[in-house]
Amino acid sequence: MMMTASHENARTLAAALGIGEDQAGQMLDVEVIVTASPHDPVTHCLAENVCQLLSRTVRSVTRTPQLQTQPAVEVVIGDATQVTAAPVVWADVTEQRFTVGSKRVGPSGTKNIHPTLSLLGACYTAGTALRMVVRDTFPLPFSDPLIVDFEKLFGSDRHWLQESVDLGETYLAGAGAVGNGFLFALRHFHVRGMLHVADPDSVSNGNLNRCLWFTSSDVDGHKAERLVSSAQPFFPDLQLIPHAVPLQDVPAARGGGPWLKRLIVGVDSRRVRRNLQLEIPGEVFDASKTGIAEIVVHFHRAPADGACLSCIYVQVEGELNHEASVAELLGFALEDVRALQVTAEAARKICFHYPQLREEDLIGLAYDSLFKQLCGQSALRTAVDRQVLAPFAFVSVLAGTYLALECVRRLHHTHLERRFNYWRASPWCSPVTRLRTQRPKNPRCEFCTQDVLRRVTRELWGGR
Ligand SMILES: [Zn+2]
Repeated sequence: MMMTASHENARTLAAALGIGEDQAGQMLDVEVIVTASPHDPVTHCLAENVCQLLSRTVRSVTRTPQLQTQPAVEVVIGDATQVTAAPVVWADVTEQRFTVGSKRVGPSGTKNIHPTLSLLGACYTAGTALRMVVRDTFPLPFSDPLIVDFEKLFGSDRHWLQESVDLGETYLAGAGAVGNGFLFALRHFHVRGMLHVADPDSVSNGNLNRCLWFTSSDVDGHKAERLVSSAQPFFPDLQLIPHAVPLQDVPAARGGGPWLKRLIVGVDSRRVRRNLQLEIPGEVFDASKTGIAEIVVHFHRAPADGACLSCIYVQVEGELNHEASVAELLGFALEDVRALQVTAEAARKICFHYPQLREEDLIGLAYDSLFKQLCGQSALRTAVDRQVLAPFAFVSVLAGTYLALECVRRLHHTHLERRFNYWRASPWCSPVTRLRTQRPKNPRCEFCTQDVLRRVTRELWGGR
């Protein structure tokens, strides 16, 4: 039996709340109504985004109340009037800010909002709606009202949102949840160039809870190919090229040299991120998430002094425990799990332990993905389990949207790189710009502490 999207969501919520999966599943088995004026294109667009995000998380989301339905929450956007007796999440967006919370914000002003900022607001709206569904048991800090101040985040001059941007030849590592979210946001910009998308995994049923470009017809297809096929029509001037292999195995990597000028990172695990650093990328735009609690965005341009991917995702103790537990669960040596992808040999061993699995489905799969599938079959609920939880769609899309915004902004204004290279934000709280920092190299970085790697980095990227 494979995990379904609703199983993935129930497991994520169960782990967050410390309750049983059945109880969490019941909490998500609800209807949400989204009410917005049909005549206002800005609030209509926001409402559509909220529906798309939430429909991956709860049972049903509708724009019009049906007779006899009892929605758990009603999301009311802009000046619209509440149409049910359900508890309300009020959301509003103006040119200056986006606001969502349990109280009405007041009449909104003029509306000329870039669709990516609207998408950002939709992610926070979906989160707030889910928090209202969970009610008193919600375990994480949150803001009410939650305010996204566009000027603080993106500057007073936001013309760059409208301007055309050239990606050149760029690689995206990871066509999963964050990779999906990144392209979902990027489609609202006029982007030119060539984007290679590398991911060795296939789409599973469980992925559908968080990958907005995938539907049930994509299941079993390669993630990279399915993502490119769905997204390409939205990018008339950006050529998307799929590679159903890890980034290390794309054709250009074999030639070596300065092939990886620009890398966008949306992969799953810390170890995979560190391995990407070994490809010695020139520029890195990276986003990750820690369960449902936090997202991180990080940037680096070699050979500058700031933190590289290996500095940020330096090996931590919990990660070792995590890998050791995955190994133990599978009955493997730790080295096997660190090989990152299931080899033919390993697939045979796994199927011996789990006869319900098929060898050919496992070969090439990342161990984390395999582990998620196995967790769906046994009722594991451990600290290990928690680390590989698949977050909700709106969390991944929030990470992808910030990644797209910062990527486009920095391609227009390279001087911004000196302001910060690292930022943490919560999907449940107003974003805090104070948390933007310039992280130095990590003295424990397994890449930067090797003189030969630093020298090669300078040789490859020092001259620009
Ligand atoms: Zn480093």
